Amino acid sequence: MQIKNLTCVECPMGCQIEAGVENGVAVYVKGNTCPRGKLYAENEVVRPLRVLTTSVKCVGGKMLPVKTDKPIPRDMMLSLMETINGVHPTLPVHTGDIVINDLYEGVNLIATKTELN
Ligand code: SF4
Repeated sequence: MQIKNLTCVECPMGCQIEAGVENGVAVYVKGNTCPRGKLYAENEVVRPLRVLTTSVKCVGGKMLPVKTDKPIPRDMMLSLMETINGVHPTLPVHTGDIVINDLYEGVNLIATKTELN
């Protein structure tokens, strides 16, 4: 069995978690202080997930900060950036507006700032 030491990033407490991994699956998780930490560790040892944050260039040249509305597999981020870089929203855009619908398996890309004309 392989032992992996992780820092939970699900909340600011940053619990130190130990996960025992066998055949690519977490067989035990300890150190988490809530169920979110257990789920985080189980996902992290199989396929790490992260919220993608970046910015897109709007029509007219202004940059708009955006993020995915749910975590996505870290190994998908580079290929999804090609799609994101090809999108140029027309202003105005408001915080929470969907910039790309269903970017990846039901996860949307949303604006994190209101940008007017
Ligand atoms: S295990 Fe729970 S309390 Fe600890 S950092 Fe993760 S989410 Fe926060």
